[in-house]
Amino acid sequence: MEKDRSSHVLFFPVPSQGHMNPMIKLAELLALSGFRITFLNSHHNHERLLKFTNMAAHFERYPGFEFDTITDGLPRDHPRTGHWFLEMYEEAPEMKTKHSLRDMLVNISPPVDCLIVDAFLGFALDVAGELGIPIICFRTSSPCCFWTSYYIPDMIQAGELPINGSEYMDRLITTVPGMETHFRCRDLPSYCRAPDMEDAFVKLVVKQTRKCVQANALILNTAEELDGPILSQIRTRCPNVYAIGPINALLKSRVNAKHGQSYDHFSNTLWQEDKSCISWLDKQPDRSVTYACFGSITSMSREQLIELWYGLVNSKSKFLLVVRPNSVIGEDGEGEDDLKAHFNKNKDQGYIIDWAPQEAVLNHPAIGGFLTHSGWNSTLEGVAAGVPMICWPYFADQQVNSRVVSEVWKIGLDMKDVCDRKILEKMVNDVMVDRKEEFAKAAAEMAKLTYQSVSVGGSSYCNLDRLIEDIKEMSL
Ligand code: UDP
Repeated sequence: MEKDRSSHVLFFPVPSQGHMNPMIKLAELLALSGFRITFLNSHHNHERLLKFTNMAAHFERYPGFEFDTITDGLPRDHPRTGHWFLEMYEEAPEMKTKHSLRDMLVNISPPVDCLIVDAFLGFALDVAGELGIPIICFRTSSPCCFWTSYYIPDMIQAGELPINGSEYMDRLITTVPGMETHFRCRDLPSYCRAPDMEDAFVKLVVKQTRKCVQANALILNTAEELDGPILSQIRTRCPNVYAIGPINALLKSRVNAKHGQSYDHFSNTLWQEDKSCISWLDKQPDRSVTYACFGSITSMSREQLIELWYGLVNSKSKFLLVVRPNSVIGEDGEGEDDLKAHFNKNKDQGYIIDWAPQEAVLNHPAIGGFLTHSGWNSTLEGVAAGVPMICWPYFADQQVNSRVVSEVWKIGLDMKDVCDRKILEKMVNDVMVDRKEEFAKAAAEMAKLTYQSVSVGGSSYCNLDRLIEDIKEMSL
């Protein structure tokens, strides 16, 4: 029997920038199709979004779109810097959030017909099961990361993990189906480097990864054209997978197809964007600038920042560098401020900011290369914009993503596990000067494929239609 109201979907991301961004875009995509949406932010992030974005004005256009807030389980005065959100997974904070979610779902009106939760919030599956609400997990990191994490127990059993010394780092992995040809131990997600597989974080990743396949379905931010072989493998364990990425590009395409207008970009940013960099880029020749940015969590040492800076300065290219406040950790607690002040003297070649309007930057004609930490959102944003990448991965899925970029898609270079200005200089020159046309052509082809996948009739476009129909079905 048809319901007399639209389906109500509640979104619940892990409260970090990289997890929230694709989730809010999917929420907007569903709102465009007439769903009622409740989007849950942590209290802390909600305050920052109100401060730094035009959230209220942007979402006014969707009458059934509401934001609500929930505890992240930590005290209000917790600093929430670095890898703070891992603390949320400790038993007490997690229970606090779990109970709040349960209370909210019991009392919310109209009732929630379907939950779309971050695949790292396994407790939500327990709550959904208890209340009989269909649940779909959204894993916001890369499919290769999901798949290698799923196989950690098998790699342990086969003796591939733990990695028994640096001489094994370049050995190809053999236990993860579909990943035997290009991936070395070095390219596994960073937590696979733990000397002991009883490590708490490794156990958490395995638990959450194995648990999320119990949901009604799994959403991944990728396209069949980008990750087809791995998606086929994942479907052997988790039959109902929706590949609906790159989600930022899909949202633009969908607004255009449905409303014949260009997307009025909403930046879900937790920091103040410095838009002055766009005027600086406007003055630079086409494809002449390297954009260097390392996401929302990565911190680096002063040594890394200095090598990074001289690698860029000694290259032949101009650059736009983002150094997030408090992201540089000195041994004696010294941060990045003095270095930034010193670097800022060289404004002709390099422009430094605290936080970028990243999508606008990547799509600016002056950008010719992206020096990235290889976070999955950044990677996909770079792919969709057709920008070749130099990957300098730090942790989590970044190690595997950088390998995909360099060896599977061949749209960039991977400088994992080195911190050397000379190597960086050479890689920047390769991408921006010496092998510029080769990389630009490969990146443009990849961008074309993703454009096709998000256009009407393309794979991601159709997978989203299927998701929409399936949620309506679940809600009956
Ligand atoms: N981002 C941004 N401005 C910046 C740095 C990052 O808008 O200066 C956005 C970026 O566009 C991406 C997200 O923050 O959507 C970072 O996600 P990603 O998965 O790349 O990395 P994480 O921050 O999770 O390590």
